[in-house]
Amino acid sequence: MELSEREAMRSVIRDFAEREVKPRVRDYDREERLPTDILAGMARLGLFGGVVPEQWGGTGLDHVTFARLVEEISRVDHCLGVLMSMPSALVGAGLLKYGTDEQRKRWLTPLAQGEIFGGAGVTEPQSGSDVAGMQTTYVRDGDEFVIRGMKTWISNLDIASFFVTFATRDRAERRNGVTAFVIPRDTPGLSVHPFKNKLGFRPICTGELVLDEVRVGADCVLGEEGRGFQVAMTAVEKGRLSVAARAVGGAQACLDACLAYAAQRVVGGSPIGSYQQIQKKIADMATEIQAARLLVENCARTLDSGARGRTETSMAKMFASDVFQRTATEAVQIHGAYGVSDEFPVGRAYRDSKVFQIVEGPNEIHRLVIARELLSGGKNRT
Ligand SMILES: Cc1cc2nc3c(=O)[nH]c(=O)nc-3n(C[C@H](O)[C@H](O)[C@H](O)COP(=O)(O)OP(=O)(O)OC[C@H]3O[C@@H](n4cnc5c(N)ncnc54)[C@H](O)[C@@H]3O)c2cc1C
Repeated sequence: MELSEREAMRSVIRDFAEREVKPRVRDYDREERLPTDILAGMARLGLFGGVVPEQWGGTGLDHVTFARLVEEISRVDHCLGVLMSMPSALVGAGLLKYGTDEQRKRWLTPLAQGEIFGGAGVTEPQSGSDVAGMQTTYVRDGDEFVIRGMKTWISNLDIASFFVTFATRDRAERRNGVTAFVIPRDTPGLSVHPFKNKLGFRPICTGELVLDEVRVGADCVLGEEGRGFQVAMTAVEKGRLSVAARAVGGAQACLDACLAYAAQRVVGGSPIGSYQQIQKKIADMATEIQAARLLVENCARTLDSGARGRTETSMAKMFASDVFQRTATEAVQIHGAYGVSDEFPVGRAYRDSKVFQIVEGPNEIHRLVIARELLSGGKNRT
């Protein structure tokens, strides 16, 4: 996409976020809910279309543009960035790559148009980082599949019309036993149990997804039987680009808040921005944020080239979320006691940034992925 076109889209998002979201984000974060009228406004602007091809109702953006737009909305609320990225990533990427035309038409198109929302159920109580160690199982019964198990820490429980989730036919087969399913929310046996009062990501409704003898037909199998692990990896790897872009947006918001605060807060007769220790923090923040942004761009370019970008997505997600966490910590410090109140956005960023280091693969796992790739001499590179 032309730079001028991308900048025009960014400015539409900036206006929307400043006007419609900023005045309300503190309250809805406190109330742990996502305002549906804000989601409807995003749908009207076409913000859910992302990288989903126009053929399937999306906007067909390149990944570089997509990442910059997700960063932009995340400067005001990264939770809206989560929603904006789901059709292109955690929920939609598997449907796009492995779904049948029927499944894409039924789920991906309305998802990309913001008419419905979805959830992705990968994490289980006993297996988060170790996806192949899942305990949710399925058995075949004639033409049907009967799924039994439980997922946890699943987002969008309140608004999802369907879940892309995973089960194994035999735990001993590890990743080769896993099959992906797309399951309508109203399927008998499926129930949700939200967690309340989370540290961060409070507006997103997250909790347990229980699958109690859930019976589905072959039309709910996503991709080939036994190839679900690949579907899961497609979803989470695409998801990592957007986590990284959201982290850059959140970190930039902290820097913006610090620049304003350092200019107006007078201590000892001078604005605190005149003190060298504050200047050092600001210079370090700005430099790290720009480095994170460049890693996100590098990752997006790799995905645009058609490569899987496993190392690039891990580098971007790990580095950007660590930068967000460091930036938010320093931002609270610069705000002194006011950083602890919810009058300023940096306290929320501080809580949320910690969660960024855990979701879509904790950063320890990303370091593992990067190191294995390097130590294997690039043999795992695809
Ligand atoms: C707000 C929120 C929303 C979420 N939304 C979703 C969602 O929509 N869908 C979904 O499927 N999941 C979701 N998750 C779950 C999230 O992706 C997992 O929490 C994450 O992948 C880590 O899994 P875990 O919590 O089981 O940690 P574990 O795997 O139990 O890891 C615990 C610790 O051990 C470390 N560790 C594990 N293995 C190794 C190793 N080999 N070497 C070194 N260290 C290791 C980890 O890095 C971590 O620090 C969400 C979580 C949160 C908090």
